[in-house]
Amino acid sequence: MTHNETATGVTSDVAAIRRVMDETGHPAFLMVDAVSSLASIDFRMDEWKVDVCVSGSQKGLMMPAGLGITCVSEKALEARRSSARQPRCYFDYLDMLAQNKNGYFPYTPALPMLYGLKEALHALEEEGLENVFKRHAYLAGGVRAAVQEGWKLNVCAKKPEWYSDTVSAVVVPEGFDAAKVIDRAFRRYNLSLGAGLSKVAGKVFRIGHLGDCNELMLLSAIGGAELAMIDCGLPIEPGSGIAAAQRYWREHESAASGTTGGM
Ligand SMILES: *Cc1c(COP(=O)(O)O)cnc(C)c1O
Repeated sequence: MTHNETATGVTSDVAAIRRVMDETGHPAFLMVDAVSSLASIDFRMDEWKVDVCVSGSQKGLMMPAGLGITCVSEKALEARRSSARQPRCYFDYLDMLAQNKNGYFPYTPALPMLYGLKEALHALEEEGLENVFKRHAYLAGGVRAAVQEGWKLNVCAKKPEWYSDTVSAVVVPEGFDAAKVIDRAFRRYNLSLGAGLSKVAGKVFRIGHLGDCNELMLLSAIGGAELAMIDCGLPIEPGSGIAAAQRYWREHESAASGTTGGM
């Protein structure tokens, strides 16, 4: 399963899936894509008995793309040791573990990325992971206030329990093309909004709010999205999103642990 579905801004309840698997005694491995949630939204490998987690360096870890980050349970490793028969020559956990034990890799490691990872982890530890999660919820709250209260639009996620604290997909009103808004934002304002993919292509644009992010960075994204939408003829009141986000953040300041501005 995908912990945080990035194209639609939907966070799924991994613990609930685990509970159902346990209740029904299902033997499947629980494999989780945590690319856009790790280090931004609470994720519990051991507590949720996740068997395989896959993530990357380019989202909550605030680095360039380039590192695949994975974690495996004892149960999954045991399956690899005892029953996996498919031959493999790349990224075998057993090769990795054998070499990692001595501080080596089976292949040439991307060393600059590992130095970057070390710094990213320092920054996360310095802020405190609990504070990092709170900051993401707080910043996301402001973006959703801009969308819902300011612009009077909806996010793609239908229920609050599914709202993603790392990315919001904004549904444009019927009859408007989200791709045009994205194009305008990029060409005129040098703002890179995320596109809707597959079934939501042209229906949504996305604002990312994860990693090294603060109120002022998001106000510029909200302001730019607002300009682009108005330019494309959407019925948006100028300044409405900015005002709603500002209101939200001023009202929720106590939840803003770690928002001393960037990292
Ligand atoms: C960004 C993202 C990916 C893509 O990661 P790649 O490194 O490009 O393969 C996969 N899953 C989720 C949930 C993502 O957010």
